[in-house]
Parts: sequence; structure tokens; C-alpha cells
Amino acid sequence: MNKNLTKQHISVAQNASGRNLNVPVYTITDNIPGPKVYIQSSIHGSEVQGNVVIHHLIQALKEETIYGEIVLVPNCNPVGTNIKAGEYTLGRFDPVNGTNWNRGYFYDPQLVDEFTETITPEESLDSIKQRFRLLWQQAIHDKLNQPWGLGLAQQLNLRLQQLASDADIVLDLHTGPVATRHIYIPEYAKQAAHQFSFPYCIFIPNSFAGALDEASFCPWWTLALTLEQRFDRKVKFEVEAFTLELGSQETLNFNQGKKDAQNILGYLAAKGVLNATQFMPQSITRYGVELENYKVLYTDFGGMVDYQAKLGKVVKKGQTMAKILNIDDMDNEKAMQTLRAPCDLIPILHFPSASVLSGTQLFKCFTQFYELG
Ligand SMILES: [Zn+2]
Repeated sequence: MNKNLTKQHISVAQNASGRNLNVPVYTITDNIPGPKVYIQSSIHGSEVQGNVVIHHLIQALKEETIYGEIVLVPNCNPVGTNIKAGEYTLGRFDPVNGTNWNRGYFYDPQLVDEFTETITPEESLDSIKQRFRLLWQQAIHDKLNQPWGLGLAQQLNLRLQQLASDADIVLDLHTGPVATRHIYIPEYAKQAAHQFSFPYCIFIPNSFAGALDEASFCPWWTLALTLEQRFDRKVKFEVEAFTLELGSQETLNFNQGKKDAQNILGYLAAKGVLNATQFMPQSITRYGVELENYKVLYTDFGGMVDYQAKLGKVVKKGQTMAKILNIDDMDNEKAMQTLRAPCDLIPILHFPSASVLSGTQLFKCFTQFYELG
């Protein structure tokens, strides 16, 4: 084994005192050819479980032969983790511009179209892949260096995306607010549901809303589809990206983190990055849902909430999801409102606070879900 574990720091933002805010970038390789893997955690500052998962991954990867290279960036958003209000971390939005920390990555479908025109039927997939990567890296570089500048979140996103831009596998480690473990999987990589050990899998289409997983797979997915149309042959670039939701925000659990790391190692073994059988995916019941059927249940009532539906358990249409207390109706029968399931569903996550305004996203739920065979 020719194990090489390096740590460098890159600056992803600068604070008002003019100090660089750095993140550690760990790279592990045995200098054997294979896929490049990029893993980051805590882009949303309060979603901290991924950091302990990366800790366990590094410990495990020291002992395993790696075919390729693995880059790990824990706590990739040092701004987000440090914005506290009392007991809570306000880690979801760039406080300066209000933008979601996971919506500023780069993707430009027109650039894919223009690139496709430069490909001849004779060009090899390797050559296409290499040229496309360079073009994409240049585009991110140009975007970061444009004369009008960029918002805080977008700058940070693009600097991280540069680290991920030549990866074949991108894993973005998140958590829900209060949530059971689940994963977002692009439809073309559906088989990955069986390579990971997540009981709840959300299959997403080729559309871009600014997140890292989408920014990592949309260019390749679009390029593959365009080439298939143009040259009438199947094209596979072997680039996959996922968002992993590892439980709830504001909590960190070392023991559970070890299991989460084993879940990721199972996938990496299935992809040939590791030659290790001890991380086999678990034989569990897996439920799948298309993104359009992963629905938000809002509350029409403001008040104080008792979340009654158990996360990950089927709730039948009409059954109670939550009870909401209205302190202005305590002398009459409207003191307690019941929020019911609009159809059969599996609640995956709920809002973390017991006091809510009307129009709050109380639950996100699988509807029209199915067991993955
Ligand atoms: Zn998140």
C-alpha cells in the first residue's frame, strides 16, 4: 500500500475583520487508478451529523486500499455553523443576502448545448469527458472572477464546486430538521438505492434548482441525453451525485455516525472504490418515491404543535398528523385543531419547533410510494 493522506486548507469566505475563513480538505489515496470521490458536510450550518461521519470515514479509509482518490471537506460552511441565536444555529441561509446555502452552485444548459456541437462521432468518451471537465472548470472559474462579484453563499458554493468539479462521485451530507434518514438519487442512477442502506429514497429528475448534487449530475445527464439523440447510441459517463440526509439538525451522534459511514463505505465498495466486503448494503425494506410525490404538508393554523405522526411509519388518509393548540380559543372547542393526512403517506421529516405560524411547512411526506424490489 502506498497510502497518502494529506490535509490542506482553502479559503471559502472572508469575515468583516478581513480574516480568511478556511475549511480543511482531506485527500486520501493509495495512488491506484480509480474514480475520484468528493464528500462534503454541513453546507447548512446546523446539519452537523455529517462531520462525525467524515471523521469515521477517514479512520476507516486509513485501513482500506483505495482505488482512486477520496476528497473530504467537513464543516464546509464555516459561516453557517457560527451564526447562533440563543440555543439555535441559523445555518440555512446566507445572512447577508438571504439565499439558501445550497442553491448557488453553477450549471448552464446552454454551455452543454454549445459543447455538444464540438463533438464528432469518432471522439472517445474519455476524450469527451476530459474536454467537458476542462470547459466546466473554466466556466466556474470565470463566474467566480467576473467583475461584478457574487453573493456570499454563491462564492462559497463555487469554491467548493471547484473541488468537486473533477469528481466521478459527489456526496453532499445533510440532515433534515427533525428527520428519519433518507437520500436523493438521480433517476438515471436508481440502482444506487440498493448500494446504499437508506430505507427512504427520493428519485429526482434532470432539473436544476441550484443544489450541489444537481450541479454535479445535470451537466453529464444533459450531455449524455443530447449525445444519445445525436449519435443514436447509449452514452454513460459514470458520474453520480447524491444528497444524503443523515437524521436531524442540531444533533451529532458518534455511534450512529459509524453506521452512517459504513452506509457510505458500502456504496463506495459497490462502485469499486474499495475492495472490501465487510460494508455490504443491508437487506432492509426500501421505499421509493418520485420527487413530485414528495410533498409538503403546510399548516393553515398558527399555534403550538404536538407532532403526532411517527416519522418513517405509514399514516393512512384522515389519520392525525399533528394537534395544534390555539391560545386564543382556550375557552371554546377550537382550542385544539387537528391536522390530518390528506392521503396515505409516510412522514419523513417535520418542522423542529413546537410554535409555528400559519403557512409553516410542518411535514414532508412520501405519497404514492412503493417498495423497491
Ligand atoms: Zn441541508
